[in-house]
Amino acid sequence: MRQITITPSIEALAEKYQKMLTGKLPIATYPVVVTMNLPKYVEDLRNKFVDATYSIKEPYMSAKRLRWRNLRNRDKYAKYLKALQKRLDDGLLINHPSKFKDEIEIFSTLLTSEEMKQKMKLGTRANAKAKTFIEIIQETLCYKEIRQSIFPQFVRDLGIKTCVYCNSQFAVTDEDDRGYYQLDHWKPESVYPYLSVCFFNLQPSCASCNMHKRDDKREYHSIWNESKTEGNELYRFTLPNASLARYIMTHHTDELAIRIEAVNNTAHLALLKEKLYIDSLYDQFTDVAEEVVWKRMAFDQGYLKALSNTSALKMLKQSDVNRFILGTYDKPEDIHKRPLAKLTQDVAKQLGII
Ligand SMILES: [Zn+2]
Repeated sequence: MRQITITPSIEALAEKYQKMLTGKLPIATYPVVVTMNLPKYVEDLRNKFVDATYSIKEPYMSAKRLRWRNLRNRDKYAKYLKALQKRLDDGLLINHPSKFKDEIEIFSTLLTSEEMKQKMKLGTRANAKAKTFIEIIQETLCYKEIRQSIFPQFVRDLGIKTCVYCNSQFAVTDEDDRGYYQLDHWKPESVYPYLSVCFFNLQPSCASCNMHKRDDKREYHSIWNESKTEGNELYRFTLPNASLARYIMTHHTDELAIRIEAVNNTAHLALLKEKLYIDSLYDQFTDVAEEVVWKRMAFDQGYLKALSNTSALKMLKQSDVNRFILGTYDKPEDIHKRPLAKLTQDVAKQLGII
């Protein structure tokens, strides 16, 4: 819908996040204060691969029976972990999305995708669970803990409450009896586990978009705009004139059609239409567009001016008066604060209300 420019205050938030994850800033989580040190956890894991006496087994088939033998290529995995530790020390966690391709280039030369998917058992416990190397990296980088206890406070500070893809739902779901932000990885963690906790790779999304997008390796838009020249707006809603005219004649909600147009990149919108069904999703919200049309018909400019001068609203800023009239935020940069804010704003602009 709309990208967010990375401002100095967002950079500062990312810096704080990095400090918390690298042991430089304690993390206050009720009821205790803890520290987290991802480079150290990766180093500890690497030491296991370097220590020849530490047992790491891989499965193989022998006489149609699954057996376990010592992992080959331990040194390759150790080298990968050394690189990961170094990158974590050098700012991997707060890399901007445009830099991800450099990281991908580094790590893809170190292990093949088959080696990344290699199942292994760490340690000698008889019931040790076999995990892929990807899963081991995700666990070592504490993705689950970060998603549940650390990243939500940053999402709140960023003011993102809705799904960054559809803007039609809140990005909050419940799990284990608690609400938390559902996070989508812009670059999938199942392929790039080293990007699994990068600040600018985590995008709040609704359960439905996250589910549809899962396992789709194609490039969706990043929520972050790093370009100095391109605008932040990606898509725009309009009510086609013919449908608006039919609606004004008949007052049938079904006559209103909502059109979604790409502002810059048509490929991204095509993906949202094909994979996230954004067209049929918004077909369900013609009543929201209808309410904006009613406002246009009922409130002329004189009325709107008189309204802002009433004693109840006089104390408010103009943008808050607009919010009162629209029933949602009126500033483009606030669309992630409320579901359907983008649709309401675009229609209100088309009709000249804001
Ligand atoms: Zn969504």
